[in-house]
Amino acid sequence: MPRYLGPSCRLCRREGMKLMLKGDRCLGNKCAIMKKKLPPGQLPRRRRKVSEYGMQLREKQKVKRYYGLFEKQFKRYFEIASRRKGITGEILLVLLEQRLDNVVFRMHFASSRAMARQLVRHGHVLVNGKKVDIPSYFVRESDEVEIKEKSKKLIPILESMKSESKVGTVPWIEVNPDNLKGKFLYLPKREEIDLPVNEQIIVELYSK
Ligand code: SF4
Repeated sequence: MPRYLGPSCRLCRREGMKLMLKGDRCLGNKCAIMKKKLPPGQLPRRRRKVSEYGMQLREKQKVKRYYGLFEKQFKRYFEIASRRKGITGEILLVLLEQRLDNVVFRMHFASSRAMARQLVRHGHVLVNGKKVDIPSYFVRESDEVEIKEKSKKLIPILESMKSESKVGTVPWIEVNPDNLKGKFLYLPKREEIDLPVNEQIIVELYSK
């Protein structure tokens, strides 16, 4: 499936939530979803009744777009989650949080997950001191993630770090902004993940 190349903000309006796809712009008052609350292409009073399948599909699209995944990748995470013991929907979200590109974004080394993916692919990121250039690499408890010494002066990374003071970090991740190094402390619980979706209906969608 080809990658979506249209306007990112349109995706947020479609899903009715901030997907945080445009870095700092998402934190300011230029965020498109703050100005236009309706989904793209819809005029006021033309909202259609959404079917059960439609709702399940929207929840799945929200999560998929939030983490910047293709359908095939997303389905693979679902399959891994469904094989593990526990609540599948919650395990799915935790797995997605463990992706290296997501962790780099959460540490504010990148202003969006797309930029984080690029940093990883271009070899700017080390995990436990070794270069890892696979964005889907699973970061585990106690793993240390850092920016390679030579890349620490890159302007986009330094700019991204400025947003740390605006939004803070998540509790399961510790970051030292001075040496661009962080630690994945523990696997988050569902209630700690700031993603307003109903993951249970995604499970229903894939269980049909
Ligand atoms: Fe979404 Fe707002 Fe960021 Fe645009 S600026 S990508 S609408 S969160």
